Amino acid sequence: MERKDDQLRALQRCFKSIEEPVNMNNSEDADSDLYTNRNRSRSSFDEGSIYISCTRPHSLEDPGKPYSSHSPVIKTGWLDKTPPKGTLIFQKRWVTLDAEFLRYYQNEKEVFSKRFIAISTIAEVLSVGEQKFEVVTKNRTFLFRAENSAVRGEWVAVLKETIQQRSASDAGGDSYGEKQGYLEMNGYRSKLFIVVSADRVFLYMNSEERSQGIGITCIDMNMGSVKSSDTRAFSINTCYKLFSFVAETTQQRDEWVEAMQACIGRSLSSDTVVWSVWVEESNRRCADCGDEDPDWASVNLCVVICKRCAGVHQSLGPSVSKVRSLRMDEKVWTDSLIQVFLQLGNDRSNLFWASNVPPSETIRPSSNSEERQTFIKTKYCQRKYRQYHRLFGRQEDLNKALCKSVQTGDLLETMSLVFCGADVNCPTGDPDVPNPLCIAQNYGRKLQEEFLFHNLNTEFPGVQDVERVIPQAAVSIPHAGILFKIGSTTRAVTERKGKGDFSQRWCILDKGVLKYFDGEKRAHPCGEIKMSDVQCLVVNPLGKHGYLHTFELYQISGRIHLFGADTPDSVQQWIETIAKAIVPPEAERMASWSFERVGRLRYTEGPNPHSPRACWVAAGGSTLLVLFHASDRPESIDLRKLQELCVQPEPGPVVLVDRGRTLRLEGDRRADFPGWVSSLQQGAGGGDGPLDQQQLTGTDVPVIVDRCLGFITQYGLKSEGIYRKAGVQSKVTALLSSLCLDARRVQLTEGDHQVDDVANAVKRFLRNVREGVFGREQASLPWLQTVALSEKSQRISQYQALLASLPPVHRATLGAVINHLYCVQCFAEENKMDAHSLSIVFGPTLFQADGTDKSAGQVVEDLVQHYQAVFDVDAELFKRQIDMISHIIRAKEDQPDEGPLTPRTICGIYLEVKEEGSELLVQVSQTMTAMEVVSEVLRRRTISPQPEDYWSCFLVNDKEDMERPLHYQEQVLPVYFSLDKDCHLLIKKNDYMKTILTCTDGWVNVTRNGHVQFCEEKGQRAKGSFSRRYCVVTATSLEIYKTQKSNHPEKECHLQALKVYCGIRKKLQPPSSWGMTVEWTQDQHEMHRWYLCCESDHELTDWLATFLLLQHNGDLWPGTS
Ligand SMILES: [Zn+2]
Repeated sequence: MERKDDQLRALQRCFKSIEEPVNMNNSEDADSDLYTNRNRSRSSFDEGSIYISCTRPHSLEDPGKPYSSHSPVIKTGWLDKTPPKGTLIFQKRWVTLDAEFLRYYQNEKEVFSKRFIAISTIAEVLSVGEQKFEVVTKNRTFLFRAENSAVRGEWVAVLKETIQQRSASDAGGDSYGEKQGYLEMNGYRSKLFIVVSADRVFLYMNSEERSQGIGITCIDMNMGSVKSSDTRAFSINTCYKLFSFVAETTQQRDEWVEAMQACIGRSLSSDTVVWSVWVEESNRRCADCGDEDPDWASVNLCVVICKRCAGVHQSLGPSVSKVRSLRMDEKVWTDSLIQVFLQLGNDRSNLFWASNVPPSETIRPSSNSEERQTFIKTKYCQRKYRQYHRLFGRQEDLNKALCKSVQTGDLLETMSLVFCGADVNCPTGDPDVPNPLCIAQNYGRKLQEEFLFHNLNTEFPGVQDVERVIPQAAVSIPHAGILFKIGSTTRAVTERKGKGDFSQRWCILDKGVLKYFDGEKRAHPCGEIKMSDVQCLVVNPLGKHGYLHTFELYQISGRIHLFGADTPDSVQQWIETIAKAIVPPEAERMASWSFERVGRLRYTEGPNPHSPRACWVAAGGSTLLVLFHASDRPESIDLRKLQELCVQPEPGPVVLVDRGRTLRLEGDRRADFPGWVSSLQQGAGGGDGPLDQQQLTGTDVPVIVDRCLGFITQYGLKSEGIYRKAGVQSKVTALLSSLCLDARRVQLTEGDHQVDDVANAVKRFLRNVREGVFGREQASLPWLQTVALSEKSQRISQYQALLASLPPVHRATLGAVINHLYCVQCFAEENKMDAHSLSIVFGPTLFQADGTDKSAGQVVEDLVQHYQAVFDVDAELFKRQIDMISHIIRAKEDQPDEGPLTPRTICGIYLEVKEEGSELLVQVSQTMTAMEVVSEVLRRRTISPQPEDYWSCFLVNDKEDMERPLHYQEQVLPVYFSLDKDCHLLIKKNDYMKTILTCTDGWVNVTRNGHVQFCEEKGQRAKGSFSRRYCVVTATSLEIYKTQKSNHPEKECHLQALKVYCGIRKKLQPPSSWGMTVEWTQDQHEMHRWYLCCESDHELTDWLATFLLLQHNGDLWPGTS
């Protein structure tokens, strides 16, 4: 409540402060003003600009605090400006620059600009003559003149820097809620092009200007209100100025009003962060100059700062200070980041940062920009005023202290350590928790984690510190040589560049910076690229440009550099050296790998994604290497085996499902992202490539083959003449081409597809696939020659040898096909296709031959007849498979014509007990939840569930004597795929549920502690026997203490990572029969099992209830939360 009042007060204050209140109903003043000034501007020289007179009321005195709160102002000043079609008469203009726009105003009191130029559209800034400079955009050039050449130099430098630093990820998140179109604006003859975007309204002369990034002004709606007046008119009233518009129809008017009101809503809602952070009183004054109500912050230095100080911070670059708005950058402001700012707060942060500021060096809100700059640089770059940590200068001790500190709640200590030289990435020596970030995570110290996260790439002054942020390899050996280079661009180079487009450059990569020179002897480089600013390195296909070998560097700032040379060795060396310099040491394996591209992306994971984290990714062929956040080595993903690859429209993420795990990769709207997307798509396989470039199943069989054979197994085994009969040609062709396009997307269903069409599609695929199943012609000869051997046993061992020499995908494919044919001929009585008939069809198909050579058929017949021997098939497994097929066929006959079913996997699930006859084969789709599977099983067995039965699906592990009820919303398929041989799924009444729901009814504070008997297993080793421990479950973690009095937990893990089972392996001889097993996996590798044993049934239920309630936010059963 208090916050709302505060907000209200702030608004009132703003409105009251206007000396002459704006009359909402009478817009005459404002309009006539605009009108006369328009005439004035016509007679003056600012082509295409209008003059919206509106100066800041005196009582809102703060000339340095411009109205917009989007980006901090980096530079302001008076400049002369000519109109683009340049007469020589200059106009004095007040010019401001922030990260988004260069704007100019009639004078320094104006709130609304005459013109703005989006930084993103500025291609170049050029010095002209002595005092002048040109700002060049794609369509126009703006000429400015400064007072003298020194001022000109400052502007050019700061503009260039701003353009460089304007990272694509920070730019224009203005895509939502957009409405645009032409509107009459009162008192102005031609219509203006108006764009409602996020929380601002932009005014352009016309739509071309919009696309060119050049406009008149923009209205921040956080201080605006929108009113409809007569039928088609409406107005935006800001506390400075009334804008009156007329739409074409009343309906359109209403649409505009609605859009603008939503815009105000957005601007106000974005105030929640600022008000949360201001709850800490000291955050209401700028940490640097003391100005009131600062709404910017440096998220790594942990200070809340005013807009003008933020401008200086931003000029230091993100490796020193990561500047974020408290109003606009909502996404960064996670709960834990806000908590960090509440815990530290400006006062406490300044205990460290400003413990020792000489009074002569302090700055005030009124300090000029030079004083401000000097102070801020001294404070955060040189760190002159900081409170020195007692361990300062003792690197090892600092690191050790950091590892300790991140386990505690003392953020200030961590901050002090980090900014006194402790290494955020220091190795701990413990592979389980390789760095401080992992320690913080392990201890559930979210705030520490947040702080470390924002400082992972913070640059530290001093030589030894520079070496730390740059991978060692790059530092130790400078690399130099000749490359050919194209002038940098901001757009991906799609057209072919001839050799003539390149210029020869002498390049040196040293200490993390790539400098390029006109010639070897030159003292000053033509340009340089910081390796820490490279987000992507792309190796182009051979001959894409005039030089045979080319590669591209994409900078975070949006610049793209294209290099090339004809000598493969030197280019390869450059690529590897650069890659080593851009990736962190943990990802070095990527650098020496033959990647096509390597770079930084962001990712989220799992069903409840966290906020995006940075990861390093390298792509090459069908392999993707990913170094996830806080991981110590890259993981490899086989793109051909993804269960799903889904590309959302730009700038949406690419969704990958790999071994049941969902991964979303994001790249914002960056120039390099489309390249990543096509790399992923190509890597995922399909099309007309050979077998090993197809989409693959987990067992290396092409998805096309697997899908088709599976369909025939399900629906075609009893179809007469299967594989011999022809399908409908047009349907076969259409089906095959959609399978080749993206086999995983094709859902073969009984209603839509005929068995003969599917059979012919797979035959045609095998007949035409590049290089065939047996390899090229030469490779298939030994197979054909084998039939000449008269001894059966000789032939079998010859086939076995040949099989072993096939590449894995070919071997698996052949195995799948022969296995399938074996099954087909088992039903020869019905389908009239015995092994011989099948081999007449499949001989020429698999050998891609015309059928004249009979030995092709003979080989296939041999393989089918001796399937088990040649392929060394486990008899037990094989029997199970045949049984399963019979099951399927019977099940299908039991319930005919259910209509087409959605894609699914057939899962064997037991009902009530695991025994012969109690297994049901249930068709489970990707998204089916435990609850849905349960009701399907009950429906099939005509069991009508009673309210208090709580039928649930359990994961039962026979070897461990434990079971886990799946949460009713848990997806079944991932669980099914992860089952190992001692596990099965069982559906039965959930006895715990009733007790849990009764006993927890009315629980308020769901945490728990108490004594248990504890025993641990890590990896495969059980560690000793049970002993008494004190166990604490908090909202986020499970902690084990040696005794109730211990200060630090002996062991700890995240609650959400736990899988809680009832029961304990009997072999461990648990001290009572009321036990549970808690399982969690560290870094996706090592599995931990903790065994907790209680003294009574009642206690066990309480513990279980606590875990489940916390893990599922109290939602344990539909309708009871
Ligand atoms: Zn300040």
